Amino acid sequence: MDSVSPYQHCSRCGAGALISVSRREFVCSPCGYRHFITPVPAAVALILDDEGRLLVTRRGHEPGFGKLGLPGGVIEPGETAEEAASRETLEEVGLAVPVGAFESFLTLPNIYWFQDYPWPTLDLFYLARVPSFESAQACPEEVSELFFISLAEVSVADFAFESNARAVTKLQEYAAQSVVSFRSPSHP
Ligand SMILES: [Zn+2]
Repeated sequence: MDSVSPYQHCSRCGAGALISVSRREFVCSPCGYRHFITPVPAAVALILDDEGRLLVTRRGHEPGFGKLGLPGGVIEPGETAEEAASRETLEEVGLAVPVGAFESFLTLPNIYWFQDYPWPTLDLFYLARVPSFESAQACPEEVSELFFISLAEVSVADFAFESNARAVTKLQEYAAQSVVSFRSPSHP
């Protein structure tokens, strides 16, 4: 990530003289106010069915328009990461997966280009198993297409984000070693 501030002016005094101290810190030279760029937490859902297929989306908007994605997004104020994973899954693919079904899988840094700035995110990946993808339906504003692909056959090079590719690669490795079970637990 380059050390250019996403802000043109100081949010305290309005001066347009932010000096880069490091790639994450910018100081306003007139007033001394320190602006920090910190990772934005985002929840991402890895959803498997009983046959070991992964739910993969085709992104319907930038960044990464037309490339593969996973249900997920920025965590909203007051939400847990599991609640965000459940909400985003319902919003993007119409699948109601209970919050308690999401298990922490791994976390990976990512870069999300938004309003011409490469925002750092911390992607929190959660694994959930569902009996079937029967009720899944792409939300056209977010997702142009849905796929249910055998985990071994997912082409990780086609993901929009490196974090997604790395997480799915890890899941493929675990599945190959039988570390990850495909059996759907009964959720309350
Ligand atoms: Zn200032």
